[in-house]
Amino acid sequence: MEMKQWMEQAEAHILHTYNRYPVVLERGEGVYLYDTEGKKYLDFAAGIAVQALGYGNREYNDALKAQIDRLLHTSNLYYNQPTIEAAEKLCEASGMDRVFFTNSGTEAIEGAIKAAKKYAYEKDGKTDHEIIAMEHSFHGRTLGALAVTGNAHYREPFEPLPGIVRFARYNDLESVKEQVTDKTCAVILETVQGEGGVYPAQEGFLNGIRQLCEERDILLILDEIQCGMGRTGHMFAWQGYGVKPDIMTCAKALGCGVPVGAFLMTEKVAKGSLKPGDHGTTYGGNPFVGAAVRKVLEIFEREKIPEHVREVSGYLEERLRRFQETYAFVKDSRGVGLIRGLELSIPVGEVSAKALEEGLIVITAGSDVLRFVPPLVIEKEHIDEMAEKLENVFRQYA
Ligand SMILES: *Cc1c(COP(=O)(O)O)cnc(C)c1O
Repeated sequence: MEMKQWMEQAEAHILHTYNRYPVVLERGEGVYLYDTEGKKYLDFAAGIAVQALGYGNREYNDALKAQIDRLLHTSNLYYNQPTIEAAEKLCEASGMDRVFFTNSGTEAIEGAIKAAKKYAYEKDGKTDHEIIAMEHSFHGRTLGALAVTGNAHYREPFEPLPGIVRFARYNDLESVKEQVTDKTCAVILETVQGEGGVYPAQEGFLNGIRQLCEERDILLILDEIQCGMGRTGHMFAWQGYGVKPDIMTCAKALGCGVPVGAFLMTEKVAKGSLKPGDHGTTYGGNPFVGAAVRKVLEIFEREKIPEHVREVSGYLEERLRRFQETYAFVKDSRGVGLIRGLELSIPVGEVSAKALEEGLIVITAGSDVLRFVPPLVIEKEHIDEMAEKLENVFRQYA
């Protein structure tokens, strides 16, 4: 069947919540994707920061195939080996003490919010606790995660949303302090804002929030769903700041393609929050995703993926800065490691669509940022290839 026919069939049945790019992807190899007509694309989006190891990693694929034949699912009423080992590795890599596996990022946020609320409830027996979240943040689409997402357009049709949420400005410590009350139980933020336009937290901001939380006995929740798993050149972005959260969320690259997320916490939070009966999931942390996470973490450790990101990302930064120097419509180049953005004064949606025609997959963030979240295994040659293709697009606007 032709791509066009597939697209028509899709639009006839799938709920129209996405304006998709006009391409039907069929297979992947390394850092390249191929559509059903055989056209090749260099992938600088990685399925939105998911495919950290790229496509067709033999060792990862074999581990998953073996687990399919052994055991897919058990429910959380029983123990299973892959997930026990995945949990140990994830706690080791993060320095957190306890983990709960979920099926997605948004569910990890739900769990993190529940843990923070339960912690506050255990302390004072009250139920009217408040959470401070950031403007331009993105934490997911379920109701609790939406409530802390700083995008009024996403939130408004679904209000009232659960919880009492106060919004502060990212990288503005005073604005956070202004929102603190005796009822504040948690501050939630992305260590690097992703969807909102690729804004890394400033060091003083993150340190200041940590100190504020310490002083007021408020829990710090860091959302590492997009910026975690090696993307910044550290296993988790906060490790680059030396600012440890009380609760952390993780997803996207955690399973490198299988739907899995997690929220993790310190022993102190675990002891004072969720107890048997307070939270659960049927699928979460089943043997299949456990085998994926276990293998992903094993490969990350052996192949030193965060180190590789530190080595290769300077080159990407340099190459993107050159675009800023060359083209007046490139207003800013920012980010850290392999999560980067170019702020453009030309329509970014159009630019990413034209890039696709050139055989380059790049996505957007916010209304005016071109976002680069490639597989973490890219090499310099791929950065050169990306730059060449993007240059072909940018030249059309010069
Ligand atoms: C993608 C994302 C989420 C939501 O994850 P889903 O798996 O889509 O539910 C939450 N927070 C951040 C920072 C994200 O990038």
